[in-house]
Amino acid sequence: RSSPDPTAGSPSRNEALFERSAARIPGGVNSPVRAFRAVGGTPVFFVRGQGPLLWDADGRTYIDYVGSWGPAILGHAHPEVVAAVKAQAERGLGFGAPTELELHMAELICRLMPSVEQVRLVSSGTEATMSAIRLARGYTGRARIVKFEGCYHGHGDALLVKAGSGALTFGQPSSAGVPEETVAHTLVLDYNDTVGLEETFARLGHEIAAVIVEPIAGNMNLVLPRLDFLQRLRSLCTQHGALLIFDEVMTGFRVGLTGAQGLFGIRPDLTTLGKVIGGGLPVAAFGGRREIMRCLAPLGPVYQAGTLSGNPVAVAAGLATLKLVQAEGFYDRLADTARTLTEGLVAIARRKGVPFSAQAIGGMFGLYFRESPPSTYAEVMACDREAFNRFFHRMLQEGVYLAPSAFEAGFVSAAHGPAEIERTLEAAQRAFAALGS
Ligand code: PLP
Repeated sequence: RSSPDPTAGSPSRNEALFERSAARIPGGVNSPVRAFRAVGGTPVFFVRGQGPLLWDADGRTYIDYVGSWGPAILGHAHPEVVAAVKAQAERGLGFGAPTELELHMAELICRLMPSVEQVRLVSSGTEATMSAIRLARGYTGRARIVKFEGCYHGHGDALLVKAGSGALTFGQPSSAGVPEETVAHTLVLDYNDTVGLEETFARLGHEIAAVIVEPIAGNMNLVLPRLDFLQRLRSLCTQHGALLIFDEVMTGFRVGLTGAQGLFGIRPDLTTLGKVIGGGLPVAAFGGRREIMRCLAPLGPVYQAGTLSGNPVAVAAGLATLKLVQAEGFYDRLADTARTLTEGLVAIARRKGVPFSAQAIGGMFGLYFRESPPSTYAEVMACDREAFNRFFHRMLQEGVYLAPSAFEAGFVSAAHGPAEIERTLEAAQRAFAALGS
């Protein structure tokens, strides 16, 4: 629950910081969703995180369900992660040369994710997907890529595309500054729409370099894939010589130790990772079949590089995190926590007469202001955003920090215990009651 800290600054320190930030940083933030535009109000400036809790600049505490947008799977400032970072920092912050730590990370990823035979480290999920697309194009000698509306793969130009009107259309840039020619090779289809997939492959299969997909969609709230959709995707790619890229930046080490691909038993050609593998610092990766990865410079003709790639301090944080998530029963406990939360919320909403549903998979969850969980982008868009925004602000007041948008998945950490879930559900009683009235 929020508790004013007598040692903290004035109650309006958040507002003051935001106002000053807006003068020097566009929108006051370094990534747009942080600005609270979707929900309104002033973003929270955090000064500290410990376990499942965050403290803001006004000294209020929050139970955190954003988890730094996914990386904080152990909660904040886990002592073993902090110790690993400190130890490495004292040995040097970075060398721009190979280190043994990177080797450990690569070996670990390849051991846990059987589809990954070789892997390259980068510094953000955006770099990972951008590089995977370039590699897929270089390997196949084809230009077209397929993505799904509502899936987010970072802000690389070719992936910043929304569907054009009507089925089976070429995409339109979804950002100014992206020329139409840049996305002319990007096709946008509907998630979970197997028929659309089949039609596209029948028409253009021989031109498609790759299909990139979030195997569990976590950027249009949480949308679970239909298993037959993913299976058909796999078989169509194989049949037509296109590469299947699973973007597991969010789901990797979040839904289980072997990612969504392990859960569904599907082997992509390439996989992108990020978030959890950096334990809160900038590490991401792309990897896959050796034969494809061999096309990368310096072995092959596909260029890719990075001054900070494999940075030892960041990799040390990631390795410490990945060591702890391998503990027996780690993901079962995480999934239990997420399920207890979502089942509790659904029960309260029902009692208060609020149209609401929720679901969880591994350590991620979705909250929907509609009667049942959505399985398409259109269904996500039909959720009651106004209700979400009111719920969000009431929960924030109660000291529960949810993602500031109706279209984001939520995350629990191993540090979230029964006490945090109970406090969250108590807050939700009041938030849903206010919504029902
Ligand atoms: N891919 C997915 C599935 C993501 O969820 C994200 C970020 O949220 C990205 C790629 C981009 O990662 P980054 O923000 O590290 O560039």
